[in-house]
Amino acid sequence: MKAIRRFTVRPVLPAALAPLSELSRNLRWSWHTGTRDLFRDVDPALWDASGDDPVRLLGSVPAARLAELAADEDFLRRLGESAEDLREYVTGPRWYQERQAESPDDGLPAPGGELPAAVAYFSPEFGVTAALPQYSGGLGILAGDHLKAASDLGVPLIGVGLLYRHGYFRQSLTRDGWQQEHYPLLDPNELPLTLLRETDGSPALVRLALPGGRALRAHVWQAQIGRVPLLMLDSDVEENDPGAREVTDRLYGGGSEHRLLQEMLLGIGGVRAVRAYCRLTGHPAPEVFHTNEGHAGFLGLERVHELVQGGLAFESALESVRGGTVFTTHTPVPAGIDRFDRELVAHHFGPDAELPGIDVELILRLGMETYAGGDANVFNMAVMGLRLARGANGVSTLHGKVSQEMFQGLWPGFDPEEVPIASVTNGVHAPTWVAPEVFRLGARQIGERRTDRALSVGGSERWDAVADIQDSDIWQLRRELRAQLVDEVRRRLHVSWRQRGAATAELGWIDEVLDPDVLTIGFARRVPSYKRLTLMLRDQDRLLELLTHSERPVQIVVAGKAHPADDGGKRLIQDLVRFTDDPRVRHRIVFLPDYGMAMAQKLYAGCDVWLNNPLRPLEACGTSGMKAALNGCLNLSVLDGWWDEWFEPDFGWAIPTADGSATDDHRRDDLEAAALYDLLERRITPRFYENGPEGLPDRWIEMVRRTLTRLGPKVLAGRMVREYVERLYVPAARAHRVLEADAASGFAAWKNRVRAAWPGVAVDHVEATAVGTTAELGATLALRVRVRLGELAPDDVEVQALAGRVDPEDHIADATPVPLKPTGAPDGEGRLLYEGPLALDRTGPFGYTVRILPSHRLLASNAELGLVAVPSEATGEAAGVLMR
Ligand SMILES: *Cc1c(COP(=O)(O)O)cnc(C)c1O
Repeated sequence: MKAIRRFTVRPVLPAALAPLSELSRNLRWSWHTGTRDLFRDVDPALWDASGDDPVRLLGSVPAARLAELAADEDFLRRLGESAEDLREYVTGPRWYQERQAESPDDGLPAPGGELPAAVAYFSPEFGVTAALPQYSGGLGILAGDHLKAASDLGVPLIGVGLLYRHGYFRQSLTRDGWQQEHYPLLDPNELPLTLLRETDGSPALVRLALPGGRALRAHVWQAQIGRVPLLMLDSDVEENDPGAREVTDRLYGGGSEHRLLQEMLLGIGGVRAVRAYCRLTGHPAPEVFHTNEGHAGFLGLERVHELVQGGLAFESALESVRGGTVFTTHTPVPAGIDRFDRELVAHHFGPDAELPGIDVELILRLGMETYAGGDANVFNMAVMGLRLARGANGVSTLHGKVSQEMFQGLWPGFDPEEVPIASVTNGVHAPTWVAPEVFRLGARQIGERRTDRALSVGGSERWDAVADIQDSDIWQLRRELRAQLVDEVRRRLHVSWRQRGAATAELGWIDEVLDPDVLTIGFARRVPSYKRLTLMLRDQDRLLELLTHSERPVQIVVAGKAHPADDGGKRLIQDLVRFTDDPRVRHRIVFLPDYGMAMAQKLYAGCDVWLNNPLRPLEACGTSGMKAALNGCLNLSVLDGWWDEWFEPDFGWAIPTADGSATDDHRRDDLEAAALYDLLERRITPRFYENGPEGLPDRWIEMVRRTLTRLGPKVLAGRMVREYVERLYVPAARAHRVLEADAASGFAAWKNRVRAAWPGVAVDHVEATAVGTTAELGATLALRVRVRLGELAPDDVEVQALAGRVDPEDHIADATPVPLKPTGAPDGEGRLLYEGPLALDRTGPFGYTVRILPSHRLLASNAELGLVAVPSEATGEAAGVLMR
């Protein structure tokens, strides 16, 4: 029989055990080994059965066991210590509080001058722990790591997301290797969440207006991530009609309208949830809003709407909001960017839908692809993200560059290098991803506190201590982690084969799968085509030989989920699974279904080599290899994302790529797969199996050591969040303050005036006279430029000379701008004369040009308006190539 209602009866803990409840609800346990050990000791068998989930554990412990613990002095002492440790962690001063005293000097006016009072961080998914399955892959895990690192650093962040009642899907396989999806129903009462309530005890309700008089309402659940609250909106509330209830059913499910409603709830509803949270808890209001990928971009519109309701004009409100907005783009793959039909968006905004009081045309204009190659009938969330944010970034140096090219159309007239998209390379939350065994080795070396600080905050001097660890200790650690992985793989494989319909009696061979002394390679990630799950199968005979080599075999563990709508991805999984089913190799290569955080934590630590072979440059950053590195696993990867930036032959391998050459995709896969096999055969396996005088693979161990000392301090989420604070949040908070004050309307009006007057701005004439001898190193040119500014004044613009090396197409590379100075009054034709010296400071082909840009102290970059005036062809005789 099916129940018509379900609810959860929460356990009543004996008073002495009350702190367990608090410890279970703060997800800090997910990265704090001491707290996890405490929960395990409540009941080891139930802990395992709960899948490491304290809330579930406490719901299942028999009353007799609780009574026993309540009388156990030793347990109570540990409980008291853990509770005190959490209290100290949550309330004590941390990096941010120490940093608060200083005030950086970047030239911007800085009333207050200090760090933002709070930052709201929006993301469509958050991967915090397997016990809160609200993520699909890297984007979500990164968001979870961002919150945890912010907590460690004391950054006053508020996370904002949706609570999906089915999360993302669970994956299993059919007998012949086809992916099956399951959507377990999550009951928020069984998750580590509390409902945000009004002072009268009723649930806080966020409401959005839908067309046709409908409404979309949501409750707000709060997860506590150390010091950081994470607000999750849940539309499955009784007041909603059935359609509205389903808005937060699944992560990345449903059609276009479903996605739009999810994103409106996340962005618009999310801002409303933040306001409610601050009102009810007294938390300071965020001065900076950070949107993790474009999905949450409507948050900017809601804030504009708030200001417009307060009486500000749209344009002024927009400036004020832009000032405090940071947008991070995460993918150069078009399918990763949300694009909606213009009409669909138009339908959901306006007088009888959301954000009444803002002209729908103004909203549409923000997302329109108004550039060459764009589609004006499409509303692009990344484009809106860029237009609504004053600070934008990609997630590795290479991805920053790729994004500048990809979005160059939004800043016509500027070279890609000038497109105002910075980069902050991703990092990973070490306390989450470092195996307890690795942590213990570190603690033995430099003590627990310093290890903890090295992992959360960074600082390379602490990592240098790894250099002193004995070879034998490192090797023993590696073997222990590998052996644990082997056990885990056998357990999971057994479960998988049972799901595939095998009887236990057929599965004896699984006890022999993998070998704790064989070089272990890991490959796990989502399965979009650019990640090339099956590149390793390109030459199956060669792979078979590697796997079954008599002296130097390798073993491979593979995992990954394909998006439910991606049959191509499912076919790749099937190809791989069929290969792994072959009795000749099934003891050396396995596919584990249901890749998620719990599996990942074991997998990264237990592998010797982490493989990544995306189609360069489509991997924006990639973070699994960083997590592997923190456990002493070596990276073998295409030079894409973070690896392009930090690879050194001392601690890993670069798979040569054929990108940029004229080869077709098939040929490219052939070339790159062959390079991969070559590396494995000639470089990697010999090094792993070659013992030095001590009987240990000392050259391999040295690479492990360098991975830890050199990559360790860089790949940390602590390093990443500190960069976000210093390079993006602080400038955004200051810009926000200045623009919010009276300047907002002035700045917006100035922008309008400049835009309107720009057609009258022109470079009319350029001449250069050599001072001294012509064109030789060390000489100086005197530039004289006549410009027309139309309605604008010299203060509104900067006239620049740009000089540098020229390529055969006369394109100036690495141009350095030199500002020119106005001299005297306008001539008879109303033209102004600008002058300045230009030093010939390099030999070889050299060229220069001049240009006029808008200039204002509040512009984030001089490309911000996308306006530039350059010499016309006719004037070009002087502004061009000077010499070759
Ligand atoms: C880290 C992580 C990812 C992202 O890995 P990439 O290398 O960026 O593909 C995906 N899924 C899980 C479970 C992870 O832990």
